[in-house]
Amino acid sequence: MAKIDHKVPKVDKKKCIGCGACVSVCPQNVFELKDGKSHVARPENCVECNACVENCPVTAIKLVKPK
Ligand code: SF4
Ligand code: SF4
Repeated sequence: MAKIDHKVPKVDKKKCIGCGACVSVCPQNVFELKDGKSHVARPENCVECNACVENCPVTAIKLVKPK
């Protein structure tokens, strides 16, 4: 996979309650719910809009530089 040169969301699975807000709010379809937790399915699509971070009720999402 090509290196991603922008930030991507990281979900703290211990905090995530599987509410689906990030899935709904992301304009880029980055997230999917998987086994009741948010999964970052398409990090390459992230445009760093911060909507997921702001709308997660349990502050489980951070934007981070991928390794
Ligand atoms: S920062 Fe924006 S584009 Fe990136 S995952 Fe969150 S909601 Fe989607
Ligand atoms: S908005 Fe937060 S709690 Fe809800 S599914 Fe996404 S990461 Fe989990």
